[in-house]
Parts: sequence; structure tokens; C-alpha cells
Amino acid sequence: MTSHDSIDSPPQSAERTVADFPILRLKRQEERRVAAGHLWVFSNEVDTVATPLTGFAAGTVVAVRSDRDKFLGYAYVNPNSLIAARILGREAGFAPGPSLLVHRLRVAIALRQKLYALPYYRLVHGESDALPGLVVDRYGEVLVVQISTAGMEAQKGAIVAALEKVVKPEVIVFKNDSGSRELEGLPKYIEAAKGEIPERVTVLENGLRFTAPLATGQKTGWFYDQAGNRRQFLPLIKGAARVLDVFSYVGAWAVPAARDGAEVTCIDSSAGALEAAALNATANGVAIQTVKADAFEAMESLHAAREKFDVVIIDPPAFIKRRKDAPKGEAAYKRLNQLAMQLLPRDGLLISCSCSYHLETGALLDAIQKGGRHLGRFVQVIGTGGQAPDHPIHPAIPETRYLKSFLCRVTHE
Ligand code: SAH
Repeated sequence: MTSHDSIDSPPQSAERTVADFPILRLKRQEERRVAAGHLWVFSNEVDTVATPLTGFAAGTVVAVRSDRDKFLGYAYVNPNSLIAARILGREAGFAPGPSLLVHRLRVAIALRQKLYALPYYRLVHGESDALPGLVVDRYGEVLVVQISTAGMEAQKGAIVAALEKVVKPEVIVFKNDSGSRELEGLPKYIEAAKGEIPERVTVLENGLRFTAPLATGQKTGWFYDQAGNRRQFLPLIKGAARVLDVFSYVGAWAVPAARDGAEVTCIDSSAGALEAAALNATANGVAIQTVKADAFEAMESLHAAREKFDVVIIDPPAFIKRRKDAPKGEAAYKRLNQLAMQLLPRDGLLISCSCSYHLETGALLDAIQKGGRHLGRFVQVIGTGGQAPDHPIHPAIPETRYLKSFLCRVTHE
């Protein structure tokens, strides 16, 4: 880690000053959310008569000002997005540029180095690290970067330079293939900015060594957001004879459960994910069973075959990506939890997760409760979890708090 001075007092930029930036003017009283700490400016808050959004190329850095000319912060603009601008910094004397990026990265890595003994973590979590639109996951000497906005894409060269300066990794890969890029008018691609694109990334977690496919894998390759829940809940399921890991991906829950002595079955719809899970098991000296199928159908079949598991883990992809999908999504969560509980013996454990921001914590509990009631089961929540601390929550941006997780004991009434 570099000196803490760089955190307490950001280096003053010798770069552009506030007068060098075009102004993005907000309508009267529309500065309230940004002034309260949020980083987003919505298009309907912009005074488009004074500063037409169409006058800005996507990615332009602007000085955001209120109708009374109060400086609110620097931001990058995308005239084609509902989120018209995202704040990059609020100090007029520290304009966005290479040194601001280096500063942000130093602040971000200082947190992770305090939290983690080993270099396997999410290094940058977008808005929560004051770097909207940027995600960086660290796999030892390999950094996998995901950019989701035109504004960050415009900073790509400076991002690579800043990562070089602060982290000095052997490999930097841009895995810019997320669906959200289309909304920002960005192409999808995967490329190496330093070194070569590795086929697989390596992760050390829970005393085990995992690999996950990079180009064909999910997200950046690994779900670091669940690491805290695994650390918290895995010791509590020790001693289980049979464990079912539904939506297993590459076996981050399954392999440690097998190491702890359980007979483990993984269900996933992706053949590649299950191959990687089986490899991870073998590499760690254990065996797991895999079932390539739709999770709902596979659990129905297991129930029809009267199979029982002492522990069922359900960690599905986000069923609710947009608010309008909430009713359908809530029904899916309820059905899923019910199917999982059907597979438990008289006294079993359910680990139930949701990464849908639009499903509130109470709604997941409700899905668990309703699923249990439908089967006449008595549910006791004995553990709660959320996203790991390398995925900080920005208190002004509710969207940054998305993962919830419950450990439940389920008995017959
Ligand atoms: N539990 C994993 C992360 C799960 S990601 C971990 O902790 O690392 C979600 C997984 O669900 C992906 O591997 C995806 O392939 C799988 N998936 C998505 N839809 C599915 C479905 N309908 N049935 C089974 N698996 C599905």
C-alpha cells in the first residue's frame, strides 16, 4: 500500500481547472438528490434549454451546476441514457483526470488490503467506490475490468495507467460483455490491455483453490459478493450428510461442503459451469455429482423421486432485473423456496439468496415464509447475510445494496 497521505489529502491536480469544463445546468430544485450524496443526474432534472443534452457527446466530462450556479460536482454525461450524468468528484479543485483515478484506486485498495489477507477480491465496485460504471475484480496478478457506461469507456486508457500505477498486475483484461452496455450505446468485447487473456482465473477461498473460465464464465468469473455468506454459513452446515447446491455455477458452495464431508449434488443449466465445478472438486481431492438441468425442473424430479438433502442452497441469478418484472419474479422466488423446502428432511437447513435489487429483504423473507406455509413447515431464520464488504453499500444509492441471504432451519409443524 502506498502512503496514507494520499487518502487524507488528495494530490491536487495540475490538470484542467473547473473553468475548462462545459456546464451541465440543472433545473430549479433538481439538485437535491445529488446534493444529498447520490451520484446520478436523471435526464428530466437537466435544464435542457440552457444546456441541451444533445449538445454533449457520450462520455463528455462536465461541471454540474444548479440553477443558482452552485457547483455540484464533476460528472460524465450520456445524452442517450435515462441516467444523463454520473458524478465523478465534488471538489472543484480536483478535476477528473489521471490523478483522480489513481487517488480513487488507492482509497479502494486500502480498504481491501485491510479486509483481506490474500489478493482475491472486488477491488472496485462502481458507484460505491466513487467510480461509477467501473468494476474491477482481482484474481491475484490478474485484474478483470468491466465498464458499463460510455463515460467510463472514455477513461479506458487512464484506467489502465492507474491500475498499472497502483496495482502493477501481470494481466489486465477488459471483459466488456454485459448486457447493460447496449443501453449506453457501447459494443461488447473482451480484450487484454496487458498480458494475454487467460483461459481461467484462479481464486483462493475458504482454504481451497478454485478456477473459473474467464471468457465463457459469468460476470468476471467469480462471485466474490457471496464470499462473506460462504464464510459465515459453511461452518454452520458442517456435519450435513447430503447437500444440494442449486444454481451452483463453478461450485463455490459445493466444493467446501464436500471437503467438510458431505455428499454434494450441484444443479446448473450451464454445462461449462458444471464442468468447472467438477474440476474444482477433483483439484481439491473431493468428488461431487452434477446435474445439468433447469433448476425448477430438476428439483421437481428430485422431489418426485423422494430424494432428501440435509441442506439445500439456492443462489439464483437475478429474477427481477427491472421493477416491472417484480410480480413475476416474486412468484418465482416463492416457488423456488417451496421446491427447495420440499427436499428437506424433518429438520433441515435452507440457504436462500437473492441478488435482485428489486426484491426487498422483506419480500425474500415473505417468499420463504409463504413457501413454508404452503407446505406446512415451520421456518426459523438463524442467520442473515448480504454482500461481502468488498462490495460496499453507498448509503445514498439504494441500488448498491442488492444481495440478501438467509440461513433457515425448516422443521415440520
Ligand atoms: N452460487 C454461485 C453463483 C450462481 S450464479 C456462486 O456462489 O458462485 C447463477 C447460476 O445459475 C449460473 O451458473 C447460471 O448458469 C445458473 N442458472 C441460471 N438460470 C438457471 C436455471 N433456470 N436453472 C439452473 N441454473 C440456472
